[in-house]
Amino acid sequence: MEASHGHGHPPLAPSLSETLMAALLNVPAARLHPLVRALAADARRLRCRLAFLLLSPPHFARALARLRSMPLPGKAALLGRVLLRSLLLLLPALCPAGGDDYRRNHLLLPQPDLDAALLLLAMCDSYSPAAAASSSPSPVDWRAVIVDGVVASALSVSGLGPTPWAALAPYVDAAAKCRRFVDVAAPSAAAKDGGGSGAASHAAVLALPPAAGDGAPCAICREAMPPVRRGVCALRPCGHRFHLRCALRWLARRNTCPCCRAELPAQDAAVETRRLWRAVERTARGGG
Ligand SMILES: [Zn+2]
Ligand SMILES: [Zn+2]
Repeated sequence: MEASHGHGHPPLAPSLSETLMAALLNVPAARLHPLVRALAADARRLRCRLAFLLLSPPHFARALARLRSMPLPGKAALLGRVLLRSLLLLLPALCPAGGDDYRRNHLLLPQPDLDAALLLLAMCDSYSPAAAASSSPSPVDWRAVIVDGVVASALSVSGLGPTPWAALAPYVDAAAKCRRFVDVAAPSAAAKDGGGSGAASHAAVLALPPAAGDGAPCAICREAMPPVRRGVCALRPCGHRFHLRCALRWLARRNTCPCCRAELPAQDAAVETRRLWRAVERTARGGG
């Protein structure tokens, strides 16, 4: 499966959006249609919230102040989380067996964070260096800039017509951005790619199913495990069993199984994005 070399720029090929679209084309229509409906509803909800912020000066000011008070790494982390959200929303169609509890937990952004993130995204979408240069040196009126941008994008979206791809496109776009963003914002995670770095997702750890010892000792502490469903857990996805306390200590530092290195969801957005993206690439190749 040597992917298309000879494109002139091997590090870029194929494009991230193309990979995602290829993965979605492999999804049966019966699974794609509910996804399209869910995404359309989500997009509507976010658009309404942004419109509310633009129409209510105090709410807009509060969200802008929150955004301005964030240090740059905080803004980067917020952007990473919002982009990861798009990837997670697309994922049920790509790998339906994923943990829903964990997904919901990742999707949950507190309202102030979501407001700040909506503004940040709208700023990125609406901002053009040319317009900024032509305006006076006074501070940018973000509310006016965003309103212009929102009106322009609303017109272009309605121009796409009511095809399923129109609902998917912004999410595919954001999910591809999410992967690019991680390459730029967290290159150190790139070095550890595939190695499973950092803590496992807290939600995934909380959802570990209890299990009974199967006669084998715990591979972490080498001590026997009780043959009852207490104090022992099984890792997902591999099913290897450990003392719960041993597993908790281990997963606080790594998101891989100590026996087989199977990957659990990661707490860090950058590490998690890379993990999910590998699943997208497998689906794009038709591997399910
Ligand atoms: Zn143990
Ligand atoms: Zn394992």
